[in-house]
Amino acid sequence: MAVRAGGLHHYHAAMANRTMGISDELAAYVAEVGTREPEVLARLREETATIPQHGMQIAPEEGAFLAMLVELTGARRCIEVGTFTGYSSTAVALALPEDGRIVCCDVSEEWTSVAARYWDEAGVAAKVDLRIGPAAETLDRMLADGEDATYDFAFIDADKAGYDGYYERVLRLVRPGGLVVLDNMLWGGDVLKRDATDADTRALQALNAKLAGDERVSLCLLPVADGVTLARRR
Ligand code: CA
Repeated sequence: MAVRAGGLHHYHAAMANRTMGISDELAAYVAEVGTREPEVLARLREETATIPQHGMQIAPEEGAFLAMLVELTGARRCIEVGTFTGYSSTAVALALPEDGRIVCCDVSEEWTSVAARYWDEAGVAAKVDLRIGPAAETLDRMLADGEDATYDFAFIDADKAGYDGYYERVLRLVRPGGLVVLDNMLWGGDVLKRDATDADTRALQALNAKLAGDERVSLCLLPVADGVTLARRR
């Protein structure tokens, strides 16, 4: 068990940091020809692989996908909920223009100290604004400071029971046309378990059901990695 952006995060064995349902050989092929993983991110991935919670790190192809989304949307102001050891924030920050910024929310000093080392190594430290503390409180402060509709892009990858609360807050913080990306929305396939009793699975099931009918956004749930939902604010 580990603590992440806003509460207890139960490590989930099926929370694979690679795309589900493809062979090892095909995954290796994608890594070889389809993902230009920067050397600094490869080193971060290898360092993170040595800690028990390494499954919380996103897959290399997902890092490349987030970076591509930032490039495609021309995002400059980003939010991340759940930073862990920094793979996704480094990937996003590398894709941002020089004046781009990413606010990183996490509760762990220990893990974000690893992230901070890699932000330095990647030359993106000046783009990163790390806020240690429960993410809901950090996001509430940003809203109280009048930052509604001033962000372009948000990535949510933290404690699953907190997702809905993070989603509601970042949906206000991103501008109309801005993008909210949510990770682990298929939860290793456990979203299909109708009799699930654990809080994480139930929270993701409820959020997926809510998003399906959420008229405030246009929506796409991609079966990439562990399920990546794109919700674009209307
Ligand atoms: Ca994740």
